[in-house]
Amino acid sequence: MKMIEFSEAIEIVLKSVIPTGSETVSFADSPGRVLAKDIFSDINMPPFNKATVDGFACHSEELGSDMEIVETIAAGRIPIISPASGQCSRIMTGAAVPPGCDIVFMVEHSLIQASGKVKFTGTSSKDNISPLGEDIKTGDCVIKRGRLLKIQDVPVLASVGCTLVEVKKMPVISVISTGSELVEPEEKPGIAQIRNSNGWQLLSQIKRAGAMGRYMGIAHDDKEETFNIIEKALSESDIVILTGGVSMGDFDFVPSVLEKAGVNILFSRVNVQPGKPTTFGIHPKALVFGLPGNPVSAFVQFELLVRPLIYRMMDCSWKPLTFPLRMKESYSRRSPDRQAFIPVSITDDGMVLPVEYHGSAHISSLVDADGIIAVPSGIKSIEKGEMVDVRQI
Ligand code: AMP
Ligand code: MG
Repeated sequence: MKMIEFSEAIEIVLKSVIPTGSETVSFADSPGRVLAKDIFSDINMPPFNKATVDGFACHSEELGSDMEIVETIAAGRIPIISPASGQCSRIMTGAAVPPGCDIVFMVEHSLIQASGKVKFTGTSSKDNISPLGEDIKTGDCVIKRGRLLKIQDVPVLASVGCTLVEVKKMPVISVISTGSELVEPEEKPGIAQIRNSNGWQLLSQIKRAGAMGRYMGIAHDDKEETFNIIEKALSESDIVILTGGVSMGDFDFVPSVLEKAGVNILFSRVNVQPGKPTTFGIHPKALVFGLPGNPVSAFVQFELLVRPLIYRMMDCSWKPLTFPLRMKESYSRRSPDRQAFIPVSITDDGMVLPVEYHGSAHISSLVDADGIIAVPSGIKSIEKGEMVDVRQI
């Protein structure tokens, strides 16, 4: 199968979306979920003309005169008296301003006289009133569908009384690690064995992307075993991710087993580094990724291809956060024929440093990575001080 460019690969993947349905969750559990319906406010906010300071409410024309205090208005209490000429009401932050008053002067700008009357001692004053509906009006759309909800949305949902939120169902993603050399992390690897890191890394990436990961275990490099686990995964998930077995080795038969299981492979070579053997196919029941076994490749290709797909399936408006920053040191590579995605760290002085990275199996290099930069094919080096776009990971 022919090698394609990364831009074609992402286009193919995003075109293959299987949309998810929706479900209802408590607003308290909504961060990280994708909103399925617009949220409208059932009230004005603030719902009344609200004092924003502790002080005295009066008509601004009265500021020059001594004022009789006719009422004390605590937050949550409805004012009874509308102060007349020569009068004011003591008022607390968050309380409703009485009718007829257009200013609240701060307690810090007041003096209570022997007569019991209060005097404004400032030179000028803001009105210190947040008018009814200043922040939100009844019927306003406060959060749009498609938003990946954040913690900041919880207080908005709370204030408009939306305690049950309709969100997109999370795509179910099965993870299969292939390789006869693999043992699980709790085991001590024998000679010629390594611990399965990809499976657990992917489950964490899936969780962060707001999807539901299911771990299917290790498939040894045995066609029948791999076939059986793929069949099971296909019938139980929206996306199946395998790692390993997609290169050119004698035991790299994931693509052929996928085809036998009815997967239509749409690409199996991408002109990208790391992650050239990245494979993608569609099946009537699920979408399938065969990611390279090399951990850095699997990590990067998940971020670049799978994560955007997850959000697209949930009809989510998510875009990766990207920051333009300068290179702290120069970077160069041997061969510029592939588009490269390089893990980088952001230094304390806000500059970009490619992480020390000696190959796509170098998993500990990623520990320092804050983002990824793209180096287009044809570009061999980036100079110190040059601007690059860092995509947050
Ligand atoms: P493969 O694509 O199967 O040829 O694997 C490429 C490299 O990645 C080999 O060195 C594998 O041992 C390693 N590898 C494959 N799967 C995993 C995994 N699940 N965890 C850690 N390393 C892996
Ligand atoms: Mg392998």
